[in-house]
Amino acid sequence: PGKNVLIVYAHQEPKSMNGSLKNIAVDVLQKQGCSIIISDLYSMNFNAAATRNDITGELCNPQHFRYGAETMEAFKKGVLCEDILKEQEKVKVADLIIFQFPLYWYSFPAIMKGWIDRVFVQGFAFDFPGCYDTGLLKDKLALLSFTTGGTEEMFSKDGMRGDIRYLLWPMQHGIMHFCGFKVLAPQITYAPEYVGDEKRKNMLLLWARRLEAIWDERPIECTPPWYFQ
Ligand code: FAD
Ligand code: ZN
Repeated sequence: PGKNVLIVYAHQEPKSMNGSLKNIAVDVLQKQGCSIIISDLYSMNFNAAATRNDITGELCNPQHFRYGAETMEAFKKGVLCEDILKEQEKVKVADLIIFQFPLYWYSFPAIMKGWIDRVFVQGFAFDFPGCYDTGLLKDKLALLSFTTGGTEEMFSKDGMRGDIRYLLWPMQHGIMHFCGFKVLAPQITYAPEYVGDEKRKNMLLLWARRLEAIWDERPIECTPPWYFQ
């Protein structure tokens, strides 16, 4: 209630399962009185590539370009390019960021990984000191909501794909926790293409139910045991 939610959404097709999961989140959260901002990355044609163009002013060292060092300086001077600044403004006001995406190669789709590469700039999202529990985005929540091709059984410790938590380590701990986010349990919608319509409707319902009580949830204990036991 009265909370700000940013949904970073990466799917090309509005009629996809990801599209439906995103729409349901908007419905439920809006009913609670939350204000919602959506970054629909494919519709925005969001640029995923981290390049020199991300700095609009003069470079500190044009002889030897260092993306991290240059974007940190540019952030401080306020000369990052417009699309990054816009996304950072959305992040700043968000209490909760939901990342909604289909799993691509055990990770985020490139367009979403690019959003992370370019938006979570040093000095804005983290610093040294200022990472993990003291990360600059602490007091915000992050939630990964994604769909897979593989089934839940395949993503088990003894399954061919290994425990789903192994791949959550880089995404939740290496990125979100690193930047200070408290991480809510992931919402994993397994194999929507391979289950029937009935099951898919149920998956959407489960997500809606969860969101109704999302503000009462406690973050996960984001340390190695959660991922690797
Ligand atoms: P869709 O095909 O868009 O949706 C599934 C079905 O849901 C459709 O029939 C749709 O009509 C239906 N649907 C939509 N809305 C509703 C609704 N409201 N009610 C009922 N039904 C509805 N998978 C892995 O497991 N591991 C990987 O490493 C991996 N890597 C990949 C890499 C690439 C490059 C690609 C393209 C895919 C990869 N996949 C992988 C598979 C991918 O994760 C799945 O294809 C994807 O998650 C499926 O989600 P979707 O939203 O695209 O499904
Ligand atoms: Zn962690």
